[in-house]
Amino acid sequence: MKEITILSGKGGTGKTSVTAALGSLAGNAVFCDNDVDAADLHLIFQPEINEAYTFSSGWNVTINTTKCTRCNSCLDYCRFDAIRTMSDGGFVIDPLKCEGCRLCERICPANAILAEENKNNHWFVSSSRFGPLVHAKMGIGSENSGKLVTRVRQKAKEIASGSDSRFIINDGPPGIGCSAIASLSGINTALIVIEPSKSGLHDAQRLIELIQSFKIEACAIINKYTINDAFTSQIEKYLEILSIPVLAKLPFDKEMVLAMTEGKTIIEYNPESEISQKITHVWEGLARKTG
Ligand code: SF4
Ligand code: SF4
Repeated sequence: MKEITILSGKGGTGKTSVTAALGSLAGNAVFCDNDVDAADLHLIFQPEINEAYTFSSGWNVTINTTKCTRCNSCLDYCRFDAIRTMSDGGFVIDPLKCEGCRLCERICPANAILAEENKNNHWFVSSSRFGPLVHAKMGIGSENSGKLVTRVRQKAKEIASGSDSRFIINDGPPGIGCSAIASLSGINTALIVIEPSKSGLHDAQRLIELIQSFKIEACAIINKYTINDAFTSQIEKYLEILSIPVLAKLPFDKEMVLAMTEGKTIIEYNPESEISQKITHVWEGLARKTG
């Protein structure tokens, strides 16, 4: 079983449309949406949820000002400077600074500090017309996206192992944050979708550095290459220097958007289109190389 993660240095490159199109060609595969902060593969896959789970994303710590005796202990103990004094002399915890270590809860002599587990992240095991899909929904302001990606990937692996699937296809997150790092570990191939623009090239460079630090084989697709010929050739030259093969250059085509609005992949929407032909070719190459 081989694992492929499709990533982009930034949002809006068309990564999910490409992932879904490859997915509709893959046959015996398990899919995993690693873009847990803004999951959207389900919009095309339209999965039926079979199992739903809660994922904890740390602790929400608050001070009960009525119980607080203003002894100052929590202020002294907090190593993250997360406790602030208010104008009335009381205390408040800054949720942006609080690391949820719960030390203040333990040392408070008045039992005035309450730590509640954040349980607003959810993940799902679903079935779809292309195969099993493991996906997640992070709560607003939640953290631990990297750990959630690791969890959904672990489940996808279990399903793939139990069903003799040939591939796991991950729709990776944009950027180089925790969830991108978590979506790269242990995979066989990273496919980068790059848009020909200044920011597209810059963000792809940062992503490639990250992928290379993992010593993972990389390949690329330049999407919407017709929108900027100059940047397209700049990207091609850059990738050539790094020996990263460009598997396809896909033209800008509004059918990609129309397909998405109908909840279809481009392969389903118009199998005869130039993009469909090229993506089919990409998948055949990937399957040969990784299969
Ligand atoms: S340790 Fe407890 S009682 Fe003391 S200031 Fe903090 S919250 Fe108030
Ligand atoms: S839980 Fe830890 S980090 Fe948060 S306020 Fe208490 S001591 Fe500080």
